[in-house]
Amino acid sequence: MKSAFIHSDEFSKFKASNEYPWLTERSDVTYSKCKELNLFDHDGIEVIKPKPASIKDLYLYHTKEYINLLKKADKGIFDESMLRYGLGTLECPVVKGVFKYHNLAAGATITGANLLVQNKKDIVFSPTGGFHHAGPDFASGFCYINDINIAIDKLLKTGKRILYIDIDAHHADMVQETFYSNPDVMKISFHESGKTLFPWKTGFENEIGKGKGKGYNINFPLPENTGDEEFLWAFERVFPPVARAFKADITFAILGVDIIFSDPLTHIQLTNNAFIKAVKIIKQASAKLLALGSGGYLLDNIERSWTLAWAAMNDLEPKEEDTATFGGMFWGDGLSSLLDRPLFLPNNIRKKTKKDVKRVYQYIASNIFPIIGIK
Ligand SMILES: [Zn+2]
Repeated sequence: MKSAFIHSDEFSKFKASNEYPWLTERSDVTYSKCKELNLFDHDGIEVIKPKPASIKDLYLYHTKEYINLLKKADKGIFDESMLRYGLGTLECPVVKGVFKYHNLAAGATITGANLLVQNKKDIVFSPTGGFHHAGPDFASGFCYINDINIAIDKLLKTGKRILYIDIDAHHADMVQETFYSNPDVMKISFHESGKTLFPWKTGFENEIGKGKGKGYNINFPLPENTGDEEFLWAFERVFPPVARAFKADITFAILGVDIIFSDPLTHIQLTNNAFIKAVKIIKQASAKLLALGSGGYLLDNIERSWTLAWAAMNDLEPKEEDTATFGGMFWGDGLSSLLDRPLFLPNNIRKKTKKDVKRVYQYIASNIFPIIGIK
């Protein structure tokens, strides 16, 4: 198994403002923690520097007009016409260097996709990626360039079938919209329900795809306060059978850590124990895997959970024989200290969550599973 961690120290040089929730240190802190725990020091693992996306690649999804405006925004100059494109809002401010940052992030995702399709790697993780809210001609929810849609489009052109699994707390609205009628992209999104979280209007279980794509769009809206057990109950019943039935060439995993209880912007009560369990299940079910960071608004969660995720993707757990080889220093030593302590949720909350999660599962099992051949 060969894997790559995509990293550039350019990412953390961009800073919109101290109050801006999007933390550009996400790649840096994950890289440093993995390095500290010897998680790159292993045969078959490589750290790779990304190249910015080419203009041609950006045009695969975005309009020329919008990209031109983004380039203007890169100089930090705002004009009112930008607001129509979602630029210059609190979520998507116009700041010097904003195009350079997002274009490098898109380039990182494309670099990863290329490594997989050229069979140079089996697993790639790019922590600064997964901008699932960006539209063809607008920025939204901290997302300016939709790296996912561009990379999927490139892979579809080579005849690949894509499994898209998104566990970020927010619904993958613009990925759903782009591939809604495409049966070559199986889209699964687990997220906090739009009843309590952005993007509010989408992500409900009855959005199941249309035309040939009917049955290839699965939304699992989770009620606020969903905890580890209820999340895993749902995840284990939906993701593995769908992955087995669909038989993708490449899996995209969007690993937002805003699904974790301590995140300041969301209301799901997961610990990173359930998060990592999901990462392991995804890895097991994937022929090739492109993992992208996406959301997460607490640096401590980002650092601990994505380090654990990288270890899980590479099957790096402390092993006794490694201790012998390295004289006390072994791969992944210290990993267990990165896990959250169990979180106890009151019974009345769990009862309500269970009921809701069961209802959504029943809907998916009755309305989607038969279409895609799951009995
Ligand atoms: Zn999110």
